[in-house]
Amino acid sequence: MSKPKIATTSLCGCFGCHMSLLDIDERILKLIELVDFDRSPINDLKHIQGPVDIGFVEGGCANEENVKVLQEFRKNCRVLISVGDCAINGGIPAMRNMVPLEECYEEAFVNGPTVVNPTGEVPNDVEIPLLLDKVYPCHEVVKVDYHLPGGPPSADTLWAALSALLTDQPVELPYELVKYD
Ligand code: SF4
Repeated sequence: MSKPKIATTSLCGCFGCHMSLLDIDERILKLIELVDFDRSPINDLKHIQGPVDIGFVEGGCANEENVKVLQEFRKNCRVLISVGDCAINGGIPAMRNMVPLEECYEEAFVNGPTVVNPTGEVPNDVEIPLLLDKVYPCHEVVKVDYHLPGGPPSADTLWAALSALLTDQPVELPYELVKYD
């Protein structure tokens, strides 16, 4: 019988949530026995080969490429899990939502204290993904089945959620795994 497949992707995040997944330490050996990996830090595939049973997404949507990647990922995941505060509510990148986009560009490329840009030009190569008007959490772009809060969620939290899903149990995490004080 084929094993369930899992995949992960990172949008506007810092890869800290992926590091937390890798932080399950020796349990990674058990995981490798239980599942096959599609796109993930284990094999470094750049695109999901799909379809998979469980997908983890880290980071919110800050630009058009994030949206495309997320939509493709959603299409290929039976269950999609938003992992970490950036995926769930935009996290630190969403701080720019309080400032008009034009001012963000000015600060980053024209007038910022560490910027040297005599022409005052803002990068506009077609290869650079366009920024969205604001940073969006994943569930505002596609349907998300579960949210695992934390910045990042602990390895134990990720392991508990994954174990529940792989054994067809309800994902009911104890308070200790979802409190942050
Ligand atoms: S939630 Fe924290 S660790 Fe995860 S991507 Fe965002 S900043 Fe990085």
